Amino acid sequence: MADDKLKQEFLYMASLTSKYDFHRMEVVEGILRLENERRILDSVFGRRFKTRIFDIAAGVDIDEKCVLCGMPADNHVICNHCMETILGSDYAKNKIKIKEKIVNVKDYLKYAAAVCLILILFIQMWLLYLLHTIPDRNPTVEPKVSSTEPSAVSDMDSALIELKKEFPEEEGYEITFAREDYDNVGRFLLENGACCAEVEENLSDEERYDYFFTEPVYVFYISNIEQYSARIGIAEINQSGSILLLGKFNDGRRIDSFYKYR
Ligand SMILES: [Zn+2]
Repeated sequence: MADDKLKQEFLYMASLTSKYDFHRMEVVEGILRLENERRILDSVFGRRFKTRIFDIAAGVDIDEKCVLCGMPADNHVICNHCMETILGSDYAKNKIKIKEKIVNVKDYLKYAAAVCLILILFIQMWLLYLLHTIPDRNPTVEPKVSSTEPSAVSDMDSALIELKKEFPEEEGYEITFAREDYDNVGRFLLENGACCAEVEENLSDEERYDYFFTEPVYVFYISNIEQYSARIGIAEINQSGSILLLGKFNDGRRIDSFYKYR
């Protein structure tokens, strides 16, 4: 163990000597500061080494003999013979191999971490994709609109005939006359499918002026009762045969507001 400690010390001194210029005080200070924390250079050789490199940095007159063997040293610290012996030893070679292994393992870990991050990224992208492909739980269905052009009506009977064309008895619809009434002119001029309430929320003052004139309309109840479902609502038809609907005719559409049907 003691032998190993000394070998470690020798290798450390030789590595420092081969790497650094001890004429630079900041280098020597760095080495001595680290040494204070880690206490590697504890032997008589180590202490001699520390004194020597400090003297070199401080520029004082120094002994030019190797701190290990006492033979002349060109670099004023460790002679070439000692350097070669230490750095060429089996101990030094083993240490270098271990260091390389650690570096390889670190590289491997880096790659593994990178692969993991990429995988996580792909999983996140996949989840996002899934999220976007899940069908909406409350799909908004486009309002059903008439495929025929308005045809003018002159009384309740002709109004009923027009409505029956849209909601035929043979499909289960029942239409009942409710009353004659008045409704806003503007509603009957909307695009088919437009929701009256939504349009009215956004009218400008000038648009309101024309929109809220009223005209006479015929009002009917419409129902279609099946075993497991029912469609009920109100239809208004004006004299030019345009139709407004309110009620449960299309899933997902607001059923509390009239919309332009024809
Ligand atoms: Zn020597």
